[in-house]
Amino acid sequence: MAEPTIVLLPGDGVGPDVTREAAACLELLAPDALLVEHAIGGHALDTVGEPLPSATLDACMEADAVFLGAVGNPRYDSAPESSRPELGLLALRQALGAWANLRPVRVHPALTDCSPLRPERVRGADLLIVSELLGGIYFGQPRALTTEPDGRHALDTMTYTESQVRRIADMGFRLARERRKRLLSVDKANVLACSRLWRAVVSEVAQDYPDVACEHALVDACTLRILTDAPDLDVLLCGNLFGDILSDEAGALCGSLGMLPSASIGDGDGGLFEPVHGSAPDLAGTGKANPVGAILSAAMLLRHALQRPDAADDLERAVDAALSDGIATPDVGGGATTTEFGDAVRARL
Ligand code: NAD
Repeated sequence: MAEPTIVLLPGDGVGPDVTREAAACLELLAPDALLVEHAIGGHALDTVGEPLPSATLDACMEADAVFLGAVGNPRYDSAPESSRPELGLLALRQALGAWANLRPVRVHPALTDCSPLRPERVRGADLLIVSELLGGIYFGQPRALTTEPDGRHALDTMTYTESQVRRIADMGFRLARERRKRLLSVDKANVLACSRLWRAVVSEVAQDYPDVACEHALVDACTLRILTDAPDLDVLLCGNLFGDILSDEAGALCGSLGMLPSASIGDGDGGLFEPVHGSAPDLAGTGKANPVGAILSAAMLLRHALQRPDAADDLERAVDAALSDGIATPDVGGGATTTEFGDAVRARL
C-alpha cells in the first residue's frame, strides 16, 4: 500500500503522551505514511462540544488505519451519556465496523518480577484475548437509567446473534491455528441465555477446526485460571464485557496495563489500533506513562492494516531489546520517562 493515511487520535490524559511515541515509531518505519491528527473524547468535547466530531469520523472512515491514545476525563464522569468521552470511542468502533478485538498479552522475561504474581506463575505467559466488539451488553437496546416511584431503575440489554458469535469464533480459531492451536471459549452459560447460544455456536465452529483444541470455561473459573495457569493459556475467546474484564486482569501478568496493545478490526482492511489502558489522568503529562502498549499497537497497525509484517516484527523486536537492556518506565520498575523509552526503542530499530 503506497502512501497510506493514518489518523492519529491522541485523546485524553496520557493518550497524547503515548501517541507521540507510537507516531514517532511509525514515522521511522512507514516514512511514506501521512499521519493526520484529529480530536476525540474529552478533548473533542472541550473543543468542539461532542465526543466524536464529524470531521474526526469522516477522516477515520477514509483513512487506511486509525491509531487512538485513550479517552476519558474525570470532569465528564457525571455528564449525561451523550456527553461522555467514552461514547466517542464506542461510536467510532461501530462506524468502522470493527467487530473483533485482539489483545495479545506476553510477559517479557525481564519483567516477570514486576507482576504481583510469583514469577513461576507468569513466566512464559503468551496469550491472545479475542473479543467480540459490536454486540453483547455494550450495544444492546433498550438501555435506560430512570427514576420510578420506588427509586431509580437501570436497564441494560445483553444480546447476541448466531452470526455475530460465528464470525468471532471463526476468527478466534483461525488465530489459534497460527499459534499453539488451543482455544478457550469464555462464557457464563450456567446463567445467561446469550452464553448458551455462544457455547453452542462456538462448539459448532470448532468442528471446522479439528486441529485446534477447543475448551469452554465459565468466566469466573477463567479469572482464576489466568492467575494460576497463565502460561498454559493460548487464545481466549470472549464477548466484549468478559473480554474487557479479563484483559485488564491479564495486564497484571505483565506488571502494568501500560504494556498491552490492541487491534480492533472488521471485514475490510484497516482498523483501530490502541493501547488497552485508559487515560490514566493521574499520570498525564508527568512523563511516567508507559508507551509500550501504544508502540506495540503501532506494530499491530503495521502488520494488520498496512500489511508490513517485517516492519511490525522490527518494532516488536526493538521493544523487546529495550526491555531486555533494562530500560523501562516506573510502572514496571524502571526509571525511564515516556520519551526516553520511546527513544530507546527507536535507537534499536
Ligand atoms: P486506566 O487504564 O486509565 O488506569 C488504570 C491504572 O493503570 C491506573 O493506576 C493508571 O495509572 C495505570 N495505567 C494506565 N495506563 C498506564 C500507562 N500507560 N503507564 C503506566 N500506568 C498506566 O483506567 P481507569 O483509571 O479505570 O480509567 C481512567 C479513564 O480512562 C476513565 O475515564 C475511563 O473511562 C477511561 N478508559 C478509557 C479506555 C480507552 O480509551 N480505551 C479504556 C479504559 C478506561
